[in-house]
Amino acid sequence: MSLQNLNNHDLLSGFKTLVQRERRVSREVLEYIAEIESRRIFLNEGYTSTHDWLVAVHNYSHGAAGRRVSAARMLCAVPEISEKIETGEFCMSSLSRIQSAIRIEEKRSGEVMSAEKKSEMLDEIELKPKAEIERSLAELFSSTAPAREMRQPKADGFTRMHVTFSEEQMQKIERAAELLSHKTESASIADALVAMAEIVIASNDPLEKIVKPRNKNNDAQVDRCGVLTGDAPATWLATPNKTAAIKPSTRNFVFRRDDGRCQFETADGVVCGSRKFTQIDHMLPRALGGSNDVENLRVLCRSHNLLMAEQVFGAAKMASYRKAPASNQSLRE
Ligand SMILES: [Zn+2]
Repeated sequence: MSLQNLNNHDLLSGFKTLVQRERRVSREVLEYIAEIESRRIFLNEGYTSTHDWLVAVHNYSHGAAGRRVSAARMLCAVPEISEKIETGEFCMSSLSRIQSAIRIEEKRSGEVMSAEKKSEMLDEIELKPKAEIERSLAELFSSTAPAREMRQPKADGFTRMHVTFSEEQMQKIERAAELLSHKTESASIADALVAMAEIVIASNDPLEKIVKPRNKNNDAQVDRCGVLTGDAPATWLATPNKTAAIKPSTRNFVFRRDDGRCQFETADGVVCGSRKFTQIDHMLPRALGGSNDVENLRVLCRSHNLLMAEQVFGAAKMASYRKAPASNQSLRE
C-alpha cells in the first residue's frame, strides 16, 4: 500500500499507530538493556560496558548508546516509569538527561539517591518540554550545570564547546541571532557569537588597525611602520615631554610590534606572552625619567605590569592598584 493513496485521515491515523508502536519498542529496548546490564552480559561478549557493546555490536552512535544506557538505569531504579515511556510522558532523552544529573549529584554528595526520591523528582519533571527539564534540573541540582567551559577539538578542524549561559546572556545571544537572520537565512548561535566577536575585534583590537600619527609630516613613516619591521622611525618617537600621554599612534605601534603579547621574560628566557589584560608599560618608569619613546615601551599583561611596578615603587604603594579594574593604562606611566 502506497502512502500517496491514503486520504489525510488514514495517513494521520496510521502515523498515530506508528508513534505508539515506536514508544512501545523504545520501552522494550530499555527493558532489554536494563536486564542485559544487570546480568553484565557484555563482559562475556568481550566488552567492558553495555555502552561499548551497543556501539560495537549494534552500531549505535556513542551518544545514542549513552542515552539508552542512562535511560535504562533510570528504568531500573524506578520501574513504574515504564508505562509512562509508552504513553509518551517520558522520552528516552529526558530520562537519560535526568539520570545523568542524578549521577552527577550522587557523585558530588557521595550519597545514593533513593528510588522514592527519584520517583518524586520524575513526577515533578514529567511532561515538561526539554528546556524546562533542563531548568528544573538546574534548580534541583546546582551542580548539574557544567562548572567549566570545555573545548573538544574535532578531527575536521572544528571545535565543539560546552559553555553555560545565564538566561539573560542567552536572550542577548538569541536576539543577536535573530538580527543576523537578515543577513544569513539560518543564523545559528555560533554565527551570532562569531559576528559579535568580529565587532569586538574590529573596534578594540590594536593588531587589526594602523593608527596614523596626526602630524602630516609623519605620513611617510606611518606607511613604513605598517610593514612592522620592529624598528620605529625616529620621527615616531614621542615628544620629550615626560608628562604627556602616549600618542595613540605610538601605543598602536608598540602593540603591533609586540604582537599584543606580554613581553615579561624570566631569567630563564620564558616569555609570558599573554594577550589578556594587556597594557603599555614604560620599562624605565616615567616617574624616574623614562620617555614615551617606543624603545622604552612594551606590552605587559596587568599582572606583570603590577609585578614590575612593585619592584620599582614597592608592594605597599601598589597594593591599592590590585583591586582597581583592569585597563589599558600602564600603572608605571
Ligand atoms: Zn604577562
